[in-house]
Amino acid sequence: MAGQKNFPLLMELGAPGRRAYLLPELDVPNRSLEELIPDQYLRSEPAPLPELSELEVVRHFTNLSRRNHGIDVGFYPLGSCTMKYNPKVNEDLASYPGFASLHPYQPEATVQGALQLMYELEEYLCEIAGLERATLAPAAGAHGELTGLMLIKAYHESRGEGHRDEIIIPDSAHGTNPASAAMCGYKVVEVASSERGSVCVDALRKVVGPKTAGLMLTNPNTLGLFEEDILTISEIVHGAGGLLYFDGANANAILGKCRPGDMGFDVVHFNLHKTFSTPHGGGGPGSGPIAVREDLVPFLPVPVVEKRQKSVDLAGTGQNIDEFYLDYDRPLSIGKIKGFYGNFLVMVRAYAYILSMGPEGLKQVSEDAVLAANYLMAKLKSAYELPYDRICKHEFVLSAKRQKANGVTARDIAKRLLDYDMHAPTVYFPLIVEEALMIEPTETETKAALDEFIDVMLAIAREAEESPEKLQKAPYHTVVGRLDETLAARHPVVRWQGGKDMEAKARDE
Ligand SMILES: *Cc1c(COP(=O)(O)O)cnc(C)c1O
Repeated sequence: MAGQKNFPLLMELGAPGRRAYLLPELDVPNRSLEELIPDQYLRSEPAPLPELSELEVVRHFTNLSRRNHGIDVGFYPLGSCTMKYNPKVNEDLASYPGFASLHPYQPEATVQGALQLMYELEEYLCEIAGLERATLAPAAGAHGELTGLMLIKAYHESRGEGHRDEIIIPDSAHGTNPASAAMCGYKVVEVASSERGSVCVDALRKVVGPKTAGLMLTNPNTLGLFEEDILTISEIVHGAGGLLYFDGANANAILGKCRPGDMGFDVVHFNLHKTFSTPHGGGGPGSGPIAVREDLVPFLPVPVVEKRQKSVDLAGTGQNIDEFYLDYDRPLSIGKIKGFYGNFLVMVRAYAYILSMGPEGLKQVSEDAVLAANYLMAKLKSAYELPYDRICKHEFVLSAKRQKANGVTARDIAKRLLDYDMHAPTVYFPLIVEEALMIEPTETETKAALDEFIDVMLAIAREAEESPEKLQKAPYHTVVGRLDETLAARHPVVRWQGGKDMEAKARDE
């Protein structure tokens, strides 16, 4: 961004001698830095840091933040990512010093509240999943997938079936599914979708067998469609001795409505940072707990939060109270998969979210999310191709095929949306839809906001017919136009390099 529209880098601001405030000279005896830090760690020259006034710093970062799009700024229909509004009360609770200032090495007796929160959050997630126990340790959805697959592996090995080395994954799956399976040492076997956008049951029958370790499925799938044959699918996979893994990263359509455990799934991961109120998109921290059925519980990672009764002598009356503790004594456990216990403050937000919504509120989340998606789908299908014309769940996928015939791609449409201060939908995913536009409005938008998006999408469809060349150069009103995405990915320049133009620098390399 160097030099763009008069927006300098922090390193280019300021002047020698400028500063925020000066502390008075120390008037108590103190040891100097030189005394405290060994010679070899001391710089010989000061670092070339910019010197700025407080106001310059505040302005710089405030202006920078205003160039970013977020759910707190505008509509964000990024399918598969559930960019819903996260109520601020959950942020407030996560910032309580009693949570935020905990140290992971504190004695258990001093963190009973935190352990109770983890214990109860596990219970709530198990109830939502319809399964027995859970671990909160995984730091993201993909990490949950890897952990879940490690449990599946440990399960088969414990039964003398370690030869099962294939994981079946539909062609509509999120990219992390095959990646996690490969990371876990499995061969990935793809199964095709039917023309209705569901797993093709006949194709599935052909690929299951004695080498099947399991099937990974997203339901509703990435097309936003519910797998109506899920009970048959479960019978087929279990009949062959495999297990069923549920990718519940986006559980917005099923909360309190149906439970993966009841559909036959043995392992489920949730993304607390998508469905359960942690802002995301900037790379973390996240949390991807997994819930499992009873016979997978012994393999869960350590530690597991447990509860026991402890007798206390309160004012001479013997009483039993709950005591929470971390259980490491689990001989069949796959071991530790994360430092300490997971991303605790994400758990606090999810716990607060679940409690503040309550069972009825969570159901309403799903009803509203599904209603909003179907409303948009019904209003947009005249202007854009809808490859799978069925009632959708929390999201749906349009195709820009019709516009492409006129030279306008899904990318052009996505870029044009930015001019209207809306985030683009997910594009070119799932891979089975040509020129895919994957739209997830979420439950937190008003009808007026949905109508505005509809108007904009219809206007863009008209533009695609009348002036396609205009769309090909969009966006016009953003800070930067079309970036060279390949260059940015292949040669990221993430360090200040003495004021040299970043793009030129990347090209040089
Ligand atoms: C986001 C997502 C994931 C991966 O979650 P991360 O937290 O980004 O690792 C997996 N599956 C689906 C369907 C997702 O939408």
